[in-house]
Amino acid sequence: SRRDAAPITRDDHRITLMVNAGLRDDVSAIKQTGADGIGLFRTEFQFLVSATLPQRERQQRLYRDVMETAGDKPVVFRTVDIGGDKALPYLHHDAADSGGDENPAMGWRAIRVALERPGLLKVQARALLEAAAGRTLHVMFPMIAEPWEFEEARALFEAQLAIIKSNGKMQPKQISYGSMLEVPALAECLDMLLPKIDFLSIGTNDLTQFLFAADRSNPKLAERYDWLSTSILRYLKRIVDQCDIHKVPVTVCGEMGGRPLEAMALLGLGVERLSITPAAIGPVKAMVRTLPLGPLREEMNGILGCCQRSTRAELSDWALQHAVEIA
Ligand code: PEP
Ligand code: MG
Repeated sequence: SRRDAAPITRDDHRITLMVNAGLRDDVSAIKQTGADGIGLFRTEFQFLVSATLPQRERQQRLYRDVMETAGDKPVVFRTVDIGGDKALPYLHHDAADSGGDENPAMGWRAIRVALERPGLLKVQARALLEAAAGRTLHVMFPMIAEPWEFEEARALFEAQLAIIKSNGKMQPKQISYGSMLEVPALAECLDMLLPKIDFLSIGTNDLTQFLFAADRSNPKLAERYDWLSTSILRYLKRIVDQCDIHKVPVTVCGEMGGRPLEAMALLGLGVERLSITPAAIGPVKAMVRTLPLGPLREEMNGILGCCQRSTRAELSDWALQHAVEIA
């Protein structure tokens, strides 16, 4: 069946297809779709659905359950992305904390909150590290804009690891640290960040709204800029090329990767790992299995010279000519 068929291109490139998740029940999507793991586990969901701050034990139980259900497939935990429009009543007590942001997406959120009020991240780090006892922990940080933010977050994890060691508790077998790239500024310092990280994950939802200065939740702008615009594809190509040079695995975890034509473009740019909504696995896998990837990669430079507002027409034509299944 399609679920059991591997995501291998027509010319034999194995693509990694993972799912995005956020709650305990989402994890069953791995089995239902045959995905390669969870490429983005949004840990803030548990905070958003809870009336009180989830304590360490409760967090730890969730993380362990998720890893156990995933079995030998990897789960990439993203530390909490709260603040901005995801304010928590039990955390953001005063107006200065929550209501102060006129542009919540560009506000006091994610790693910015975590590093300034480290209590929450410390608890989460401890919960993740203990939950991953004897296994590999994959963890990544949201909204990193400059390398020092990654280093501070990683240092905070390492300090919690030292506590676990000194308590004589079992540690993770290995820890793989990643950074999200969703703030455009980070791309300019990527050569400094890449030697420090184990993987990079591009969040195209936030990244593209920042690149175009176009609010992702404003329907008036939804049709205006295309994920397949030349600017976005060129920007992504530079990132992917740098990751290749530094041999750092790169994943795209935004919604862009869940649309077959967009996913095809990403593969053409050199991306080999996608983390997408579970419902998109079927259509994206169908695209992958019918794609001659080598020829597409050769075509991409030409496509990146497209001066229309989008490369959509070129890419659709190419897909049609090469009988690539785009649902
Ligand atoms: C993104 O910004 O692309 C992303 C994956 O994170 P979120 O959608 O949770 O902001
Ligand atoms: Mg994001």
